[in-house]
Amino acid sequence: MMKVICDYKDCTGCGLCAARCPKHCIEMKPGFLGHLYPVIDQEKCINCKLCQKGCPSLQYIDCSYPKKAYAAWAKDAQDYVTSTSGGAASVLSQYIVSLGGVVYGCSVLPNIQISHIRVDKMEDLHLLKGSKYVQSQIEYIIPQLRKDVKQGLPVLFIGTPCQVAAIKQLYRTMPDNLYLVDIICHGTPSNQFLKDYIQRNLKIDAARVTNVKFRLPNEYSLCVFEQNKLLYKSDNLWTHRYEDLYMDTFIDGCTFRYSCSSCHYAKSNRISDITIGDFWGLGKEVSDKDIPEHKNGVSCVLPITDKGMLLVNAIRHSLNLYERPVTEAINGNDQLRAPKAINNEIKRFRALCHLFSIKRSYQMTIWKILLKRKIKQLLKK
Ligand SMILES: Cc1cc2nc3c(=O)[nH]c(=O)nc-3n(C[C@H](O)[C@H](O)[C@H](O)COP(=O)(O)OP(=O)(O)OC[C@H]3O[C@@H](n4cnc5c(N)ncnc54)[C@H](O)[C@@H]3O)c2cc1C
Repeated sequence: MMKVICDYKDCTGCGLCAARCPKHCIEMKPGFLGHLYPVIDQEKCINCKLCQKGCPSLQYIDCSYPKKAYAAWAKDAQDYVTSTSGGAASVLSQYIVSLGGVVYGCSVLPNIQISHIRVDKMEDLHLLKGSKYVQSQIEYIIPQLRKDVKQGLPVLFIGTPCQVAAIKQLYRTMPDNLYLVDIICHGTPSNQFLKDYIQRNLKIDAARVTNVKFRLPNEYSLCVFEQNKLLYKSDNLWTHRYEDLYMDTFIDGCTFRYSCSSCHYAKSNRISDITIGDFWGLGKEVSDKDIPEHKNGVSCVLPITDKGMLLVNAIRHSLNLYERPVTEAINGNDQLRAPKAINNEIKRFRALCHLFSIKRSYQMTIWKILLKRKIKQLLKK
């Protein structure tokens, strides 16, 4: 019988099984919508079950309710405008590097490879900046992360909650020098879809691409760069819906992994030491009139553990930091309450994807909206 690690629909693609296999007989290979899933070389497998013992999708992992909630943004103006929301991730990273530590975060590598990397120099921290709305691979950094932790370096890991769950599975008791930060996550499309979209739909050779951005200050826009040259920029998602397939399918949740819709970590009890995200709903429960203007966005910072609280206190001088009710943060951000729900459109899109390309399936999913829009335009003429 074919050996499997966890149910296909529960697999988060963290790659911990591949990273830990003593026989190196597990490979992450593209499956539905290009998402990576472990494939076991049945011949080499010795049935040690280390993959299943470690798999975060098969274990209950401790989560806790936030101790406090803060609205925050970096005091450094340059750091602030170049970050996605308020730059909390960047300020935390700078602090760890200033202690002589290392940061593991997500970067865009050559050939549109979205992967976690290790950074130990201030001047390289810019490589981690910005939310990449795509799944990042973490299995390659796991051996080095373990070495750094063992050596006693302060180590900061920033990633999606399911990636943090995988890192937590490496330890029975959490080492004091390992800090875990999760970003509030709506779900992730696959790296393969991003690359195919840029190559096939935008007709840009992946070898030319040196950076991809998904958000600009106050805009949700897909931007493709070759060094400083902008090769493509989609219009702002909020003002130009249904014009960029990648961003549209992302925001609608169509191209996420199966596991995103039953995510174990999209809830108020959190998996890491600190949760960060956008502070949507700021001012909805308590007046925010005393908070100065922050027109490039604001981070939501939720310390979860004592260690997380100490870390927030250590960086507070670098942030504009305003305490808010925890419920304000939770009520303003869907994925602090539940995973993105599967609606009929997503179900239809997924079914169609078994027969047609992603582009065709999406067009067939939203054809009524497109038709209504076309009629409106014609009537205006
Ligand atoms: C796929 C995805 C979905 C998100 N969905 C939501 C949401 O629904 N609600 C919400 O409030 N916030 C969401 N965010 C988080 C938000 O976009 C910002 O990343 C967050 O507010 C931190 O911003 P910042 O200004 O502090 O840091 P930034 O300077 O933007 O740094 C971002 C940090 O996140 C890490 N990171 C970036 N991309 C990835 C990735 N693909 N996988 C793992 N780690 C990554 C980087 O290592 C970096 O340290 C999402 C982020 C991602 C990547």
